[in-house]
Amino acid sequence: MKKIFLKPKKEESVLRHHPWIFSGAISKMDKDIEEGDLVEVLDSFNNTIAHGHYQIGSIAVRILEFGDNAIDENFYKRRLENAFKLRKSLNLIRPDNNCYRLVHGEGDFLPGLVIDIYSDTAVMQAHSPGMHFERMKIADALTSLPDAGIRNVYYKSDTTLPYKARLDPQNDYLTGKYDGAEAIENGLLFNIDWLKGQKTGFFIDQRENRKLLEKYAEGRNVLNMFCYTGGFSVYAMRGNALTVDSVDSSTKATALTDANILLNFPGDTRHHTYSEDAFKFLDNVKKGSYDLIILDPPAFAKHRSALKNGLIGYRKLNLKAFEKIRPGGIIFTFSCSQVVTKEMFRLAVFTAASQSGRKVRILHQLTQPADHPVDISHPEGEYLKGLVLYVE
Ligand code: SAH
Repeated sequence: MKKIFLKPKKEESVLRHHPWIFSGAISKMDKDIEEGDLVEVLDSFNNTIAHGHYQIGSIAVRILEFGDNAIDENFYKRRLENAFKLRKSLNLIRPDNNCYRLVHGEGDFLPGLVIDIYSDTAVMQAHSPGMHFERMKIADALTSLPDAGIRNVYYKSDTTLPYKARLDPQNDYLTGKYDGAEAIENGLLFNIDWLKGQKTGFFIDQRENRKLLEKYAEGRNVLNMFCYTGGFSVYAMRGNALTVDSVDSSTKATALTDANILLNFPGDTRHHTYSEDAFKFLDNVKKGSYDLIILDPPAFAKHRSALKNGLIGYRKLNLKAFEKIRPGGIIFTFSCSQVVTKEMFRLAVFTAASQSGRKVRILHQLTQPADHPVDISHPEGEYLKGLVLYVE
């Protein structure tokens, strides 16, 4: 096994089970180590303290196993069985719900790996070269998972792997083939386009928040900003909204939304889509036209360097919604930027509320669902923040 040695004291975070080793913590390493290799990590006393995948960059090792246990043949099988057991106990696998996140990276002790399940297809994304090299082993473990019924594994890592690693991954089926892409979430049907869609094709992480929105939709005029596949819109329709308007700057996204509305509510005239920039659309909204607004934008701050501008973006977006919403209205507002903490997001939203002069109360504080678990040793895994606000 190739070895990496840490500087004195740098083992402390590993002993607390934080799954990343930063490049600055390394004192020396074997000469023949290549990106994506499985490596043994030793402290300054030469004790083995972890095994993980090596990568060039600031996060040098993503730890798969702590202590001196080596990674054996059945490692991925065991981890996936464990992940599946958790999803089963969360009651996410039912006739009226066949999509869920099976592997959420560090939250499932598999850093660098994301797997979403849509019926009998698993869509897999590798975020590290190590996971890229292990993809066939992982695909085999997926299709042999007892009771999971996974037949097809689609690999989609062209945008998630580090560009500099030059791995040139081809998006393709590792096993099985395309056999339809209709998923059921809480009894609602969704066409999932993992071939062309964003990420794995659907934002499963908003499932519980969409369900909450459904309860507030009755008799309201709903505006779903950044609708993508129209998840929130479909739930609002089932919740007996008076009207639902869905906005996204991408025509591909509004087409997906239209298709999903049609799938669930054929012939229903309450719903309309608009392919427009969200900020421009809000500028042109007449005050008081809507009394339920959803703001679920893409990550405005993808890296720490974009934090300041990202926070300005959240403040401006929320300000526009506060200015336009009817008194007694409700705003569901989100941030999925990992670098934006709960406190920072609140500050941006609260500043917007105060600038608008509206009286605002928090009804709910939202986060990611249980199939996107957060390892307590890796608080960075908590990325989705949401607030449900009542606006006088
Ligand atoms: N709410 C969605 C997920 C949103 S993803 C869900 O529940 O599934 C973010 C979406 O914002 C993408 O579809 C993207 O096309 C859209 N988008 C990005 N910038 C935008 C802008 N300036 N105006 C409108 N839509 C935008």
